[in-house]
Amino acid sequence: MPLVDCMNKIQNYINGSMVAPKSGQWLDNFEPATGKVYSQVADSNESDVDAAVTAARNAFPAWSKTHATDRAAMLHRIADAIEANLDSLAAAESKDNGKPLWLARSVDIPRCVSNFRFFANLITGVESQSHNSDGMINYTLRNPLGPVACISPWNLPLYLFTWKIAPALAAGNTVIAKPSEVTPMTASMLGELCIEAGLPPGVLNIVQGSGSLTGNAIVSHDDVQAISFTGGTKTGKHIATVTAPKLKKLSLELGGKNPNIIFADCDYELMMETTLRSSFANQGQICLCGSRIYVQRSLYETFRDDFVSRVKQLSVGDPLEPASKQGAIVSQQHFEKILGCIERAKEEGGNVLCGGNAVSLAGRCENGWFIEPTVIEGLANSSESNQQEIFGPVVSIAPFDDADDAIAKANESQYGLSATIWTSNLNVAHRVAAEVESGIVWINCWLARDLRTPFGGMKESGLGREGGMEALRFWTEPKNVCIKF
Ligand code: NAD
Repeated sequence: MPLVDCMNKIQNYINGSMVAPKSGQWLDNFEPATGKVYSQVADSNESDVDAAVTAARNAFPAWSKTHATDRAAMLHRIADAIEANLDSLAAAESKDNGKPLWLARSVDIPRCVSNFRFFANLITGVESQSHNSDGMINYTLRNPLGPVACISPWNLPLYLFTWKIAPALAAGNTVIAKPSEVTPMTASMLGELCIEAGLPPGVLNIVQGSGSLTGNAIVSHDDVQAISFTGGTKTGKHIATVTAPKLKKLSLELGGKNPNIIFADCDYELMMETTLRSSFANQGQICLCGSRIYVQRSLYETFRDDFVSRVKQLSVGDPLEPASKQGAIVSQQHFEKILGCIERAKEEGGNVLCGGNAVSLAGRCENGWFIEPTVIEGLANSSESNQQEIFGPVVSIAPFDDADDAIAKANESQYGLSATIWTSNLNVAHRVAAEVESGIVWINCWLARDLRTPFGGMKESGLGREGGMEALRFWTEPKNVCIKF
């Protein structure tokens, strides 16, 4: 399967074909592990977006009337194609994003397959509502919306892209989708796989380009009926101001600063192993990573010493090496931002217990963007470092006294995406889960996912929920029909 055309140019997938942007404008695309440009991606403008929306509008009548079982069969064919190309997709994801190859192969790409299969299965089992009373029956139709948009970030590129596209298509919508311009490669490969799978032209259109040009053109297009966005809180708020006057349906999955609350009675080894992952998986660039670690005072020093010594063993290296636990940071801009946040933490009185520096590697990765996993203590809960999202391999640790104290510290945040609680006391677990302000709570685990559950954040972490029926509800318009007899 060709990754890009012979000129290393990543094109758009519009109306069933791979096409160059009309303006002829391209952006450089970097390999984070080497710091080198290795391809170029279309920087699409309003007329490319308009072509995608026109294709989606034209494809809508037939696709929306296709029987759910036929749409499901098509989604399964796309899943089959992803599965058959798992190795090349994983290699492309790792190269484009900097994440370890083993991670892309074991988590990112298998999850894309699951996303398509899950919504293919779900749509064939959907029941409609009916309300029966006083000589009348009401029933509810759920119709697809029309051409809709999916916009996703760079941290889990194809994983989050397909998490939005699959339910939108399953529900009978046609889609205009934009991946991050920082990680465009696997989205482009998805376009090629859709051609291979026989998806009718215009049902899915993938428009590449920057947020300011391409993204803006998508969200402000009058014929785009709904937008599902995952990315930064600032961008989400901006999109809300563009779409609100046009009364477009909007789902926002935004930033986080997630608390990890560790009680002294937890299963220590399981907690330690999982906390290493929840802190540093994907170089800490997962919106669900726990970046504020609160540990009950009686366990604090033991935890701190063990944790720091285990973090020091996390090897940072070439994403292609199976031994690399940590890969590269996604871009030079983000690399510099993270190092700046570490400096800021020091200014705020933070004591860097381990890490804190860029890593220089020899050989092919000598110019790559790598940062040591970093643990900081001594920061005030209200400090910028504990309040602003860093989105990198940086966590702060602090002691707490009791459940009330832990809940207060966890909730002192503008964000409310996810929280993790470690305890063997059921009462404490349920109480903290109920009182912590976040859309997702994990007790004695992290990132355990059942795709049927509501997924999303509260406060500045988002608006609305994805996952299972929540996603199908978002991507459809309910219509009540009342019959009196
Ligand atoms: P970002 O907001 O910069 O970009 C996200 C996407 O929006 C990209 O495709 C970008 O091109 C596009 N975009 C940017 N400006 C736009 C505009 N004006 N109009 C339309 N589209 C625009 O975010 P990022 O840096 O790519 O991703 C990191 C952020 O994503 C972090 O804050 C992270 O917490 C968040 N995130 C949240 C979740 C979640 O489920 N809540 C999941 C993953 C990442």
